[in-house]
Formats: sequence, C-alpha cells, structure tokens
Amino acid sequence: MNAAWTDAPTETPTDQAAADTPAASKKPKIEREIHKLEKRLCRQVGQAIIDFNMIEEGDRVMVCVSGGKDSFGLLDILLKLQKRAPIHFDIVAVNLDQKQPGFPAHILPEYLSKLGIEYHIETQDTYSIVKKVVPEGKTMCSLCSRLRRGILYRVADELKITKIALGHHRDDMLQTFFLNMFFGGKLKGMPPKLVSDDGGHIVIRPLANVAEKDLIRWAAHREFPIIPCSLCGSQENLQRQEIKRMMHEWERQYPGRTETMFTALQNVVPSHLMDARRYDFKGLKLTGIPDADGDKVFDPEELPAPTLPGLQRLMLES
Ligand code: SF4
Repeated sequence: MNAAWTDAPTETPTDQAAADTPAASKKPKIEREIHKLEKRLCRQVGQAIIDFNMIEEGDRVMVCVSGGKDSFGLLDILLKLQKRAPIHFDIVAVNLDQKQPGFPAHILPEYLSKLGIEYHIETQDTYSIVKKVVPEGKTMCSLCSRLRRGILYRVADELKITKIALGHHRDDMLQTFFLNMFFGGKLKGMPPKLVSDDGGHIVIRPLANVAEKDLIRWAAHREFPIIPCSLCGSQENLQRQEIKRMMHEWERQYPGRTETMFTALQNVVPSHLMDARRYDFKGLKLTGIPDADGDKVFDPEELPAPTLPGLQRLMLES
C-alpha cells in the first residue's frame, strides 16, 4: 500500500514496448532527464509522507501557495500523488495576498482556476501594517510572518483544514539547522511535521527530502508563473545569506556534502552529544555485556574516505 506513494507511475505495455524501440533510445536526453526528475520528486515527497505520516485518510490539506517556485512545485507534486495515493485526501490551495506593491493579484487565481482545483485567495493588507509599525531600514519579516501565520491559521479553521502544507525543502531545513547552531547556540532544525504554536494545527513539509536545485529545474520545465519574492522590498536575512553562501561553497568544493549533512539530521546520537536533558549521563551504569558496536573509546572514529574536492576531481576526470 505504501509503494503507491513512492513508485514511479505505471507504464502501459504500449509505453514499455515503445521505450524498447531504437527510436526510444534516441529520445532527447533532456526529455529523459525530466522524466527522471519527475520520478525522483514524486518518490521523495511520497517517502516523506510515509516516514512522517504526513497525510492520512480523509485529510483536507491546505497547500500554502505564495507564487514562488517551491510552493508551485509542492502543489504540482501533491496533485500528482493524490491521483495514485492509496488513501483519499483533499487539496485546497490557499494564497494570502498581503497587498505588497505591484503584487500581480490575477496570476494565482488564473493558474488555480485552470487547474480546476479547490482554492481560496485571502486578501489582507498586512503590508501597510508592517510599514507603519516597523521603522524604516529595519527588517520587516518577523512581524510580517507573525501576521501571516495568524491569518493562515484562521483561514485553515474556516476551510476545515486538517493539515497545513508548506513548501520548505531540504536546503531550507539545513540552512535553518546551521542558523540555529551558529547564531542561536542550539542543535535545532526545521521539522518535517509539527503542531503549530497555537496548538491547533498540524503543519507538514512534504518537500523535506527534496533538493532546491530539483525544484528550480522543475519550475522551469513546468513554466510556473512565478511571482517575484522581492515585492515587499525587504532584504533576505543577512545571516541566512551567509549560511547559503557557506553551504554553496562546501558543495562546490566537496560534492555530496549537502546530502551527507541531510542524512546526519536523520541520524542523531544523543549519547554522543552533551545535552543531559536528552541523555541520562548521570545515571549511566555498567552493562557488563560486550557490544561489538559499542564505543572503542581510545580508537579514532572510522569514517568513510572524504570525497575529493571538486577541482581535484575535475582534474582527474579530464
Ligand atoms: S520577505 Fe517580505 S513578504 Fe516575506 S516575510 Fe519578509 S517582509 Fe514579509
């Protein structure tokens, strides 16, 4: 039953026969790449849904669509999965028009109407409030997101929503992890599923396993009518920019590092950190039983060989 979430869409015998013909092997490379990308996106979203029990029978899932590539991608992939999921659930696309100057209010209603799905556009002028309250030159994001959050919770109640789906992806989650570690002194990321601060809503992030670069490619392929995110005139947080730059540089120098770091988020060993609230160091007792996987104490940790820096790898390959 779970496989229906993650398996590739079934090919008909005719499709398969056609794929085996010499003509198929000449299929433009780009087309094959896009097909692989679609399969990967569906599989990764399906896997997150299973692993964290994100969507259940009868759910009404509110997909928050901002007009950015991530939320368009989220809606698109969830609609695909809805068709083949082993359970029934509804999707309601919701956009909050915050009355930012120049916001093209017609784009989302037109796009969503064409899809023929249930949607709701909530219009609330939070932009004027934020402008009035926040002194010129100060970042507006904190108040803006607080207002947005309250409105979305209310809309979710009015629409009888059971899950609120947000478009954060793997890279957002890692960036948040490093932001909390470097600037907040906490080992804390962005959860794939949580109970909202008002205690009344379950929030899910079905793109948790998805890389941002895949969402960029998917958005280009699907030609989503992207709405620029700079309309409010607010700058992206400088600390987040710095983290993004750092991660980008790491990935360039050591390809695959982002993936390894993401795996680490799912492989936490509290007994080897230092939070006494998460592990009972004080109450540690001898077991008297040898454990092959236990700590060797004096031996250095055995780790896989480091990947070659990108430049070195390129030189070897050329
Ligand atoms: S970037 Fe603009 S719209 Fe987004 S949270 Fe900040 S102030 Fe609000």
